Amino acid sequence: FVANASHELRTPIAAIRAAAETLLSGAVDDPASARRFVDIVARHAERLSRLTQDLLDLSRLESRQWRFELVRVEAGALARQVVELLGGAAREKGLALAADEPAGTAVRADARALEQVLVNLVENAVKYTERGRVAVRAERDGEAWTVSVEDTGPGIEQQHLPRLFERFYRVDAGRSRDQGGTGLGLAIVKHLVQGMGGDVGVESDSTGTRFRVRLPAA
Ligand code: ADP
Repeated sequence: FVANASHELRTPIAAIRAAAETLLSGAVDDPASARRFVDIVARHAERLSRLTQDLLDLSRLESRQWRFELVRVEAGALARQVVELLGGAAREKGLALAADEPAGTAVRADARALEQVLVNLVENAVKYTERGRVAVRAERDGEAWTVSVEDTGPGIEQQHLPRLFERFYRVDAGRSRDQGGTGLGLAIVKHLVQGMGGDVGVESDSTGTRFRVRLPAA
């Protein structure tokens, strides 16, 4: 894991270093190239910041230092907030994004943790889907609610599904990095859901992908 993390950190650091050196050796005096290299620095600094934040979250979760405050949470209202938050990104790609949850979807959860879970799943769905729609739904399932995030993306081949929630596991590493992914999102999702006493799963075929989060009803 440390080797993987170091490898992930090395790329943006190398890019920032190279861009800074180019700027120092003269590019800074040419406005057009200066902008291009500062842009590289900004993009890779953003990537470093996402990576270190995800690494910190994961480390707190794995060492059980993350304190979950389990209370009654209206998952429908939370899902609508997340849809609103990510609506701009979906619209930019021409995707329909909607939350379709019955009123009274009350789960026992930590509101911030559940929000982070939904943000990660909806962000992924928007990121990897080129056309169609992303929907957040809830279904009652005995003493629990299943909240699912479904997309009409390319789907994930079956052989990848059992390993998808592992740290740094990606189906297509190049594509994930191009999209600004850290490869840690789903590992964090799994820990957050399990920390709230729930479980998470995924189903996928060539028509799209569906992530399910099952949480106890409040
Ligand atoms: P990343 O930062 O790479 O998105 P994640 O842990 O969130 O990392 O996801 C791991 C991998 O799972 C991604 O790299 C991608 O290959 C795949 N993946 C996740 N969500 C989807 C989705 N909705 N559709 C297709 N592939 C997905």
